[in-house]
Amino acid sequence: MVSISFLNPLSPEGKDIVRELGSFEGISEDIPELRSLVAHNPSQEIVDDQEIPSNYLELALKRMEWYIQKKHDREFNSRKYAFLSDYAITKYDVISFYLLCQAIGVKFGPNSRETRVMVEAQGDLVQERLGKLRTEDSRFIVEKSLQMLLKDDLVHWTFFQELLSTRKIRLTDLLLDSGELILDREDFLDRFGPRIKQRNPSSMYELLIGDELKELIMVKMIMQETEDYIKQVHEKARIMVEPNPILLELADEVAEVLAEPMQSYGYGSGRGGSGPMKAGPLNPLAFPPCVKKALEGIKSGGRNDAIVLFMTPFVSYARLYPDVFRMNISKRISDQDPQLEVTENEVLPLIYEAAQRCVPPLFDDQPQEKVNINAKLGFGMHSTLKMEHEGETTWYTPMSCEKIKLHLPHLCRPDEVCKKIGNPLSYYNRMIWEVSNLDKGGPDSGNSNASNNFAAESPRNTGTNGKSNVNTGANGKNNQSVPKSSNKNKSHDKKSGEA
Ligand code: SF4
Repeated sequence: MVSISFLNPLSPEGKDIVRELGSFEGISEDIPELRSLVAHNPSQEIVDDQEIPSNYLELALKRMEWYIQKKHDREFNSRKYAFLSDYAITKYDVISFYLLCQAIGVKFGPNSRETRVMVEAQGDLVQERLGKLRTEDSRFIVEKSLQMLLKDDLVHWTFFQELLSTRKIRLTDLLLDSGELILDREDFLDRFGPRIKQRNPSSMYELLIGDELKELIMVKMIMQETEDYIKQVHEKARIMVEPNPILLELADEVAEVLAEPMQSYGYGSGRGGSGPMKAGPLNPLAFPPCVKKALEGIKSGGRNDAIVLFMTPFVSYARLYPDVFRMNISKRISDQDPQLEVTENEVLPLIYEAAQRCVPPLFDDQPQEKVNINAKLGFGMHSTLKMEHEGETTWYTPMSCEKIKLHLPHLCRPDEVCKKIGNPLSYYNRMIWEVSNLDKGGPDSGNSNASNNFAAESPRNTGTNGKSNVNTGANGKNNQSVPKSSNKNKSHDKKSGEA
């Protein structure tokens, strides 16, 4: 029988498991039963013996690795992590959950990327596990969990204040009657049955509530409890003399797992034209004409849209996640820039410079646009970028050329490269890629004397004060350059008969 603690380690059953373990003693010792359970799981794929978790700590890291790989690796193989959905591992899994929360709470605190990823991973794991259970088991366990989590039969919507304020749930997700949450079928039929005409009330219940809403509430409440627990650990850790070194070590290993996407998935694998783009310092010489124009400053109308809706997504994605369209995986800024250093020191300064060059300078008469810029980066309507606000809004992807032509026509001054792309970010990636291809003297360069095409345009500083952190070549020594796009592409066009 599946234990509630398999879905909610913070349940009383889960706490009992922790109590039984008692202390950290022997926490890193091998557990032959755990290895055996993983090795004998019929759905498990094991390529290398090293992939089998041998103890609580390794299991904890596997939990994080599962989430990170699932989210970032397009070739993710779920069979490598089949053991995570096997409820036979419950007692080990619960301990590994507590170890993770404590390690993250002690080392990183509640407002960290590590906490956010841990909470999201727990939510995803609960959903994954529910999906693997038989329908009747899943229903039974959701009902039982909700009874514990909701504590009362009558629940007023204000009970969800925390979930609503952290945007884990929206008020519109809930079905309310006189402010009370309706989840139970009988309750629904009693309250709404007589009012539903020309429809079957039972079908309406399935449509509006069914298993889906119950699961959603349960998952989000477990996520919130996980977050609250990390917060408690952090508070306690502040008054403790010395945190357990095992937790600090685990926290470092968690940070390594989280850093892996930036090293392995989608960045710098150097597979030529079909491979991922490498995120790196911005090269203004590769910017498309519309971005160059916006950087000169908007002198006519449309300053707000040009800076907030156009430049902010372009600059942030070009610097942090140039491959967004090819990868087709939604990310947050902190997935690419965990400490927000690049965002603070390179992305925002360039956007602010463009805003400053507007006539009149944008923030002189509309300082509130700084808040809107933060919102477009995914950090909600706040005046500073704070991890705790990330996710309140969406990190906007760059506008397509079609939209720019429609809403900001004065920025669009297409050149030859523009004929081959549909988005300014694709233009930028193409130009950057051409540079690296020429650098390698690769087959696509079409020019064995490729270096002749380098630095065809003089480097120029886009900064107003020469202090931009972007590699603008302000000192005339720009080490990034692009081929002269018009010449190179003209000759290409002639060959292909498109000119
Ligand atoms: S076609 Fe697209 S990339 Fe080229 S200038 Fe216009 S908006 Fe920019």
